[in-house]
Amino acid sequence: MKKYIIGIDVGGTNVKLGLIDPRGEVVSRLSFSTRNFSATPEKLTAALCEAVGALLRKERVMKASVMGVGVGLPGLIDVKSGIVRVLPNIPGWKDVPLKKAMEKKLGLRVQLENDVNMITLGEWKYGAGKGLTDVLFMTLGTGVGAGLILNGNIYRGPGFAAGEIGHAPLNEKGPECGCGGWGCFERYVGNKELQRSAAKLFKARDISLEDVYQKAVEGKKKALKFWDMVGEQVGNGLIGPVNLLNPQAIVIGGGVSRSFAFLEPAIARTLRRRAMRTQAEMVRIIKALLDDDAGIIGAKVLICHEKN
Ligand SMILES: [Zn+2]
Repeated sequence: MKKYIIGIDVGGTNVKLGLIDPRGEVVSRLSFSTRNFSATPEKLTAALCEAVGALLRKERVMKASVMGVGVGLPGLIDVKSGIVRVLPNIPGWKDVPLKKAMEKKLGLRVQLENDVNMITLGEWKYGAGKGLTDVLFMTLGTGVGAGLILNGNIYRGPGFAAGEIGHAPLNEKGPECGCGGWGCFERYVGNKELQRSAAKLFKARDISLEDVYQKAVEGKKKALKFWDMVGEQVGNGLIGPVNLLNPQAIVIGGGVSRSFAFLEPAIARTLRRRAMRTQAEMVRIIKALLDDDAGIIGAKVLICHEKN
């Protein structure tokens, strides 16, 4: 019986694989460094296929009992045709037909997806978004991105590029951004900017966001104030999407979400104050539940529930 699914989360630093059982739980894992194989798309493709084989051998699972492989990648993915359009942080990837190449090598069904959408699917069906039909999943880290569940479906946009909440401008003028625009949300709440403002506030150049989190746990006032300011800024960036989409929930994940307990009150306060009444009353702010596993578990949703 086909019952297992393999989820692959391709990151700029590491590739993580997981064997997912019928309950949606990751029962076995494997990972390798992306850089060792990122010289060419062919090399990385071969490494992905070899790792799938190694994971199956390790668990003594036959290919015949695998429903499919879901691969999340950090870039623009044509989900329908299974082509990787571009991966900004892994060189050489332009219009690579990865789905076809992997299916040929593995003899298994393969589905590709953007990494943030993969996390969104995982959190929606097996994590913080369970049972909801309209959710905005936001990842707060080096980059600020979003995945959209609207009307009970993932919304990718006709060019598979929807969800770029980090590049919604907060100001008419503002700092330039890598996307070609300026004043983008990410330029205010991305990790780099948060680290810079923490260094300024604490007058310590090498203070990390982890340090500021620890200080907040200890109840240090300055740290609590820092996260409150960040929460307000995050709330400001969410007013537009909340008014536009009227979601039931905003699910927040990514590295910065570790400080969720200190961010949430300011986010909620800002939305209550500035978003439209119906939207503000309805929206819940929730912390992501699956952490690193969401990007792997999303494969189960992609293979079992999505019709591509
Ligand atoms: Zn931008």
